[in-house]
Amino acid sequence: MNYEQTFEEIYNDLQHVEESGHVADYITELAQVDPDQFGVHLTTVEQEEYSFGDAEKRFSVQSIAKVFSFVMAYSTIKSNIWERTNLEPAGTPFNSLLQLEHDRGIPRNPFINAGALVVCDILVSELASPKENMLAFIHRLSGNNRISFNPAVAHSEKKAGNRNYAMIYLMKSFGNIRNDIETVMDLYFHLCSIEMSCKELSRTFLFLANNGVIPWSGERILSPSRTKRTNALMQTCGFYDEAGQFTFKVGLPGKSGVGGGIVALHPEKYAIAVWSPRLNTKGNSHKGMLFLEEFTTKTRLSIF
Ligand code: GLN
Repeated sequence: MNYEQTFEEIYNDLQHVEESGHVADYITELAQVDPDQFGVHLTTVEQEEYSFGDAEKRFSVQSIAKVFSFVMAYSTIKSNIWERTNLEPAGTPFNSLLQLEHDRGIPRNPFINAGALVVCDILVSELASPKENMLAFIHRLSGNNRISFNPAVAHSEKKAGNRNYAMIYLMKSFGNIRNDIETVMDLYFHLCSIEMSCKELSRTFLFLANNGVIPWSGERILSPSRTKRTNALMQTCGFYDEAGQFTFKVGLPGKSGVGGGIVALHPEKYAIAVWSPRLNTKGNSHKGMLFLEEFTTKTRLSIF
């Protein structure tokens, strides 16, 4: 399959779609990103690679990194994550406080902010140097040790972090946060600030399309059963209150971030990352979603 030609055709089709949405502007650095950039990269489990546009340009991965923190906890931590977070779709925005009081401080899933904060708390409890250990884990998954945090973005996250602070204090009041709040927040804000390109993201997520094994190193990260479950979580919870739409239109497990990136994968076949910074009202990349919808429609490579 000549994916590069398909990418170009879809990109050209989307030029006719009226631009809507804005870049995330509550974080200074994200507000300054040129909104017209566009990149896509697909890596197959056989490690064939297909690229189009700004596929090698790094951007802020934001909530896509919630998959890294979750997989790190799920693969290495002995404590039971499911006593601390649920695994149901939230049906609310990523930074909603609504359910937390009702559910007594237990987040609906690990891919909304509250859930990712609990996962960060678990990691802080168990790791000697959480930020360094997290980065080392991402270096293992990606095979690339030049991936890093952006300290300026982490700092801006903290400045704009009132809702995240509200969530963590509420969860602490229910006993679902065990560590010092600033230490957990520092890990969370750094996690959001990781910068990667579409090429790096699609390679890094490839183990989830390959039954939990990194294809180029043969290293097992998750058992086949846990890989299946991680993909199921991305399918049901990866796009907040747009998870149904994404499943309906694209039909792949995936995860988005407010930097405008989306990663999606087809088990046994490929991982794809697309980047287009303008976001729709749900905080997901407007053109990124449209692109993936056309991609799985044209190629018939959705899981459904
Ligand atoms: N930095 C963001 C936040 O915590 C991450 C949100 C996202 O990408 N959806 O608000």
